[in-house]
Amino acid sequence: MECSHWHHLPIRLAVEARRIAPDGPLDRAVRCHLSAHGGDEHHGLLAELDRYGTALWLRWHGSDVDLAVLPDCPVIGTGSGSGGDACCLFAGHVERHSWENTPPQ
Ligand SMILES: [Zn+2]
Ligand SMILES: [Zn+2]
Repeated sequence: MECSHWHHLPIRLAVEARRIAPDGPLDRAVRCHLSAHGGDEHHGLLAELDRYGTALWLRWHGSDVDLAVLPDCPVIGTGSGSGGDACCLFAGHVERHSWENTPPQ
């Protein structure tokens, strides 16, 4: 089950995000990409950064919200049904890898 939290992208962070990721489309609101998790810190993907294997995330915790450039999660799915899929989360994330949410074929 996915985390159901959303957060809008504040204007001041949208300006900053545009500077970091000038090419990609930016959503006005992002959903937390993690599986349902404990704690109050959520991470929504704003943009893939092609270089360096990193991505730009919106990270929020209560009313605190900020941008974070985080390296991609290096763990590749190996089980049946995950077929070598790359995880689309960031390194060191809590809970399950994104490919673990894919139902087995
Ligand atoms: Zn969350
Ligand atoms: Zn992962």
